[in-house]
Amino acid sequence: MIKKIGVIGAGQMGNGIAHVAALAGFDIKLLDIDPVRLSAAKTAITGNLDRQVRRTIVSAEDRDMALGNIAFGTDYAIFGDRDIVIEAATENEDVKREVFKTLLPHLRDDAIIASNTSSISITRLAARTDRPEKFIGLHFMNPVPMMKLVEIIRGLGTDNDTYLEVRELAESLGKTITLSEDFPAFIVNRILLPMVNEAVYTLYEGVGTVEAIDTGMKLGANHPMGPLELADFIGLDTCLAVMQVLYEGLADTKYRPCPLLVKYVEAGWLGRKTGRGFYDYGGDIPVPTR
Ligand code: NAD
Repeated sequence: MIKKIGVIGAGQMGNGIAHVAALAGFDIKLLDIDPVRLSAAKTAITGNLDRQVRRTIVSAEDRDMALGNIAFGTDYAIFGDRDIVIEAATENEDVKREVFKTLLPHLRDDAIIASNTSSISITRLAARTDRPEKFIGLHFMNPVPMMKLVEIIRGLGTDNDTYLEVRELAESLGKTITLSEDFPAFIVNRILLPMVNEAVYTLYEGVGTVEAIDTGMKLGANHPMGPLELADFIGLDTCLAVMQVLYEGLADTKYRPCPLLVKYVEAGWLGRKTGRGFYDYGGDIPVPTR
C-alpha cells in the first residue's frame, strides 16, 4: 500500500500534487533542481492552503498537518524510502529521461514511477527505465486541488498490480479516474489542445482579437475560461510541447503548432507563470498583449 510519495518538479503541477496528497495524509517529499522554485513552492502551497482555510474548505488543523507532511529537497537521495515517485518536471522528453536516469539509483526495487506528462508516450518513457512494469501515467489536471479528474495511462508493459495501486491512490485523493490508452496526448489533451491551438490560429489570422476569441468561447460555448486565457493558465511552453507531440506522434498536419504560439514561447512569454502571455498579468486585471 502506498504511504510515502515523492514528487519531482516543484512547478504548478508538482505543488498541486504535493498539496492534495499531503492533505490526504500521505508523507511527501518534493524535489526540484532549482532551489528558488522550491522556496516558491513552499510559499505557494502555504498560500493555497491558507485560502482553503479562509473558505472553510479545510480546517486550520488539517492545513498544519498537510504542511507538516511535506519535506523539500534538491538531492534525489531523499527518494530512497518512497513507495512511489510522481514525476512532474518540465514537459520535455530529454528532461524527463535525465530525471529518471538520476532517480533510478536511489529508488527501492519495488517502488512505482508515475509520470504526470501531458502528452509523451508512457511506453517510451518506461522503456528507458529498469521497471517498465512498475511505470505508469498519472495525469492530474490543473489546478490539482480543484480539478476532479485524473487520467491513468497504462504503458504497454505496465502490470496490473501497479495499475490497481495507482488507481487506489488517485481515488484516495478524492479524484475520479478516466483510463486512456497510451497514444499521443491521451484523451483530454488530444481534444483540448487542438482547440487551444485553433484559438491561437484564429488570433494569428486576424479573425478576432484576444478578447473577442475568449468572450466568444466563454459566452458562446459556455467554457469557464476562454481558450487563450486557458493557454496562459496551462503555460504556453507546455501547450506547444503537447502540440509538437501530437504533430510528430500522429504525423498529421492538422496538429501543426501555430507559428504565433511558437513566437510567444521563443519570447519567453509563457503565460501566467512568467507574468505575460496572451495577457499581461502585471496590473490589477489581465490586459491582452495583442
Ligand atoms: P512548470 O514549468 O510549472 O514546472 C516544471 C518544474 O520542473 C520547474 O520547477 C523546473 O525547475 C522543474 N525541473 C526541470 N527539470 C528538472 C529536473 N531535471 N529535476 C527536477 N526538477 C526539474 O511546469 P508544470 O505546468 O508544473 O508541468 C509539469 C508537468 O506536468 C509537465 O509534464 C506538464 O506537461 C504536466 N502537466 C501540466 C499541466 C498544466 O496545466 N500546466 C496539466 C497537467 C499536466
